[in-house]
Amino acid sequence: DIIYLNGDWITSEDAKVSVFDRGFLFADGVYEVIPVYQRRPFLLELHIQRLQRSAEAIGITFIEANYWYQLVDELIDRNNYDNGLVYIQLTFGADSQRSHLPTQPLSPTIYASMSSLHVHWDTPIPVKVAVLEDIRWQRCDIKSISLLGNIMLKREAAKLGAFEPLLHRHGRITEGASCNYFMVKNGHLYTPPADHLILAGITRTWVIQLAKSLAIEVHEEPMNVNELQHVDEVFLTSSSREVQPVGQIDDIIVGNGQCGAITAQIAEAFHASKRHLIQE
Ligand code: PMP
Repeated sequence: DIIYLNGDWITSEDAKVSVFDRGFLFADGVYEVIPVYQRRPFLLELHIQRLQRSAEAIGITFIEANYWYQLVDELIDRNNYDNGLVYIQLTFGADSQRSHLPTQPLSPTIYASMSSLHVHWDTPIPVKVAVLEDIRWQRCDIKSISLLGNIMLKREAAKLGAFEPLLHRHGRITEGASCNYFMVKNGHLYTPPADHLILAGITRTWVIQLAKSLAIEVHEEPMNVNELQHVDEVFLTSSSREVQPVGQIDDIIVGNGQCGAITAQIAEAFHASKRHLIQE
């Protein structure tokens, strides 16, 4: 695999980053993950816009959108993945010592690489999720490389035999450790609002658009975990999982445990948009 590091195209074995990089010491950085189908990036503009928002939120100077578009194109060209995930990481940069405040003006450390992706063309088998208290910070809208909270919650869910946690703050549903949630009730679609408590997923944005085009009413509003007992369908979304049905929440079976009709309809529309991209 060929990776990108600060202007160089090298193998991952040859890549070196300073121990004084603020990403390594403080997780002072942001990242982005972009799905690639048949060598074409999916919803690239939305991913780059989110990367810019995250970078600006932590004080990294604006980088031209074209720089990112060229970087992604070249990364796909230089690697052999037809379907893959592009990973971009941007940290505040390497200092000459460990200091909470930078001791000098720094330039960001920019790293990008690719990995393989299993693309779904049929709706996947429903998974089980576990309801857990969201212990993360109050700026989940920033796609920070500091994922300690997410990872601790993911491990706890795994211990409970669940694929993902379903997080809530004092009863209010937020998201998963690495995905967003959608519920279906009486034919309407519900998802928590894109505020500071969740990462506004690009797949989430796309699913909302697809649902609207299918004339499904979408409500972006706060929901309580108690309401989960009365929903007909639940699914989760992310760039790598696409539209993933949920069949069980803790001990509660959702619907009949199978993929619901609206979830299937949205998943099918999602597959169609991938086919459209590939055939463009
Ligand atoms: N929330 C969190 C916390 C995530 O880490 C992710 C995926 N990285 C998502 C939601 C889903 O975002 P996307 O659809 O852009 O992959």
